[in-house]
Amino acid sequence: MRNMRVLAAIGTAMLVTGVLYCLAAEQGGARKKLLVYSESDGFRHSVVARPLTGELSFAEKILKDILTKAGYEVYFSQCFHDLKDEKQFDQFDGIILYTSGNPKINREALLKWLRSGRTLVGIHAATDSFTDDEAFVRMIGAAFLTHGAGDKEVTVKVENRDHPSTRMLPAEWVLADEIYQFKGFSRDNVRMLISIDTGKTNLEPQRMKADEYYPVAWTREEGKGRVFYTSLGHREDVWTNPLYQDHVLAGVAWALGLAEAK
Ligand SMILES: [Zn+2]
Repeated sequence: MRNMRVLAAIGTAMLVTGVLYCLAAEQGGARKKLLVYSESDGFRHSVVARPLTGELSFAEKILKDILTKAGYEVYFSQCFHDLKDEKQFDQFDGIILYTSGNPKINREALLKWLRSGRTLVGIHAATDSFTDDEAFVRMIGAAFLTHGAGDKEVTVKVENRDHPSTRMLPAEWVLADEIYQFKGFSRDNVRMLISIDTGKTNLEPQRMKADEYYPVAWTREEGKGRVFYTSLGHREDVWTNPLYQDHVLAGVAWALGLAEAK
């Protein structure tokens, strides 16, 4: 009976998004362990605000759903005490950050852990965290500077379709979200995935200029570790968008070394 239930669960997983990574995530018999860490020390986004009743936040629930179905073992924290010493980091293969401000996690341990061959996935406000910490900013690829309107559509251009996290996206992806503008960003420090098509976006509400470059998602390698960052993910209707979920899921799989770029 128990086996049947397991088989039924696998069957369900095969039908949903992320099937490509489902088996890979369980390779070698041990499921990859991921921590979703979303403490807000600065601005607290509604998608990571947990209700007082103690349930997971909107974004945590979606990550739990898609990552579990893809075969990962997923944990959730919004408390820096869970990331204070090296042993705590060593419990995980990957950490997904949706933080803001300066949570009191052990950043030295985070970088050491990542460089030893682990996985860091940054979502949206992850770049609005530790913005004065040069090593962290270089690791994640940029620091938040400002943003324009979050409720107006922009056109996102796929620059690199060879990466698993962009293969499902249309060449021009039109969506409304809060688009970050950065400081401390250099194209030499990252491998670009997607950026704003300034020729096809109404720039005024975004406070953007036609001749400037606005990166949206990229990857990096940090020592033996891999970093995937997407600045999308402010709005609830972005989180429920299957394209966005697949973009994030494939970014996680790549960063864990379970899916490769061509
Ligand atoms: Zn935001």
